[in-house]
Amino acid sequence: KAPASLLAPADLYGASRRNSAGFDLSDEQTLARINAARDVALADVVPLTVREPSGTVQDVTNPATGARLATVMMADADTTTRAIEDARPWDAPAADRSAVLRRAADLYEENFGPIFAILAKEAGKTLADAVAELREAVDFLRYYAAEGETNPGAPRGIIGAISPWNFPLAIFTGQIAAALMAGNAVIAKPAEATPIIATLGVRLMHQAGVPLAALQLLPGRGGVVGAALSADPRVRGLVFTGSTATAQTIARSMAANLAPGTPLIAETGGLNAMIVDSTALPEQAVRDIVNGAFRSAGQRCSALRCLYVQEDIAPHVIEMIRGAMDELVLGDPWDLATDVGPVIDTRARDDIAGYVAANGNRVIHRLDAPAQGTFVPPTMLRVGGIGDLDREIFGPVLHVATFRGDELDRVVAEINARGFGLTFGLHTRIDSRVQEVSDAIHVGNIYVNRNQIGAVVGSQPFGGEGLSGTGPKAGGPCYVPRFFAPDAPPAAG
Ligand code: GLU
Repeated sequence: KAPASLLAPADLYGASRRNSAGFDLSDEQTLARINAARDVALADVVPLTVREPSGTVQDVTNPATGARLATVMMADADTTTRAIEDARPWDAPAADRSAVLRRAADLYEENFGPIFAILAKEAGKTLADAVAELREAVDFLRYYAAEGETNPGAPRGIIGAISPWNFPLAIFTGQIAAALMAGNAVIAKPAEATPIIATLGVRLMHQAGVPLAALQLLPGRGGVVGAALSADPRVRGLVFTGSTATAQTIARSMAANLAPGTPLIAETGGLNAMIVDSTALPEQAVRDIVNGAFRSAGQRCSALRCLYVQEDIAPHVIEMIRGAMDELVLGDPWDLATDVGPVIDTRARDDIAGYVAANGNRVIHRLDAPAQGTFVPPTMLRVGGIGDLDREIFGPVLHVATFRGDELDRVVAEINARGFGLTFGLHTRIDSRVQEVSDAIHVGNIYVNRNQIGAVVGSQPFGGEGLSGTGPKAGGPCYVPRFFAPDAPPAAG
């Protein structure tokens, strides 16, 4: 019989919860259902509020083709105020809320066809990324359902949830599920680019049994809906994933208008590094570098931005990265062969392309991009170090620096000095170095001898420190309790 300590993870995660088994894209029936959903009708999107909403209309387009997908009514300030008035905390017993969220998880999985189709069309997700995203959304629902069930806190009240377009279902759903599981009323503002998948997610949560007054959806502009949520003292907490600058704007508004101590749970950007020393296995490191930098077209907060490779092996590793980049297929997200889809919109494309053009003398390698749509070719740039990166470039751009064997401490200090602290990767075969570097580096998520994207709910809680966020980490045990009122009784156990 195993000692009790080895049983703990099974008790925590095994008995009551299991991560989604995912979807097999090589299975013909699964593929047939995905293809059948390809032309899913994308009905026009309106706010899902207790009372009739008002606002202005705007088109949502497919980033790969520019085609119009739907017309969205962007909620105005009045609709936001009425949603706040109508919001009611979800006062069902925790066991019932948990059962509803589990039902929502099942509904999400059953609706994989339309979900993949919308993720591909609206967010430019490759099918592989769409599968991973749906799994993560389902995992959040089940994980928080299990966490909140055993945690008898009292709700704070109304929580505003402001989510990003890069994980328009997973992060969107995770924020909502945690706040709901704590018994709060949620007003969710999806990213401006991705209201359609958000609408489907909320419809499925309502269908599972979440009351309308406990979950309202307000597609709209950050400067309108987000600004109204962060300035209304009836809002008792905000959860936000997006840029550091926007988090700071929200924090300022909350400080000026909301009750002191109202929590902002923010997950923001990063300038994520990886160190590859001369003991690393190059084949493994290169696979992880290419995935970390270019998967999801580099549009992850966790993505690798600055690689430090020890100079003895640098020419070899850079040559291998170049070769691996040449194998990447850019194109239609719907095509199973595609590795890198489009970036989210023309503004993002022009910004990243402008950055690369301004750094043309640093280009080590660059692919060609399809002429149509908002594609950005994966690019490798030479830099002296992370200090040369003046901001987070949210796209498929990898910066590479080299270091001498006696400079490791300097490199770690340089990474820490940048002030961000989201993900960090280390490739080494020296055990003591793993410990030393992990102790010295200031980031939320450290990955050793693997890539630094794709944190798994329940086993790799995700979130940063410093300019990268406030914590607590999403998909970890401290997340749901943050949505309880501070005078809540302590968690059971
Ligand atoms: N959780 C995601 C990952 O581990 C990143 C989330 C984000 O980009 O905001 O890759």
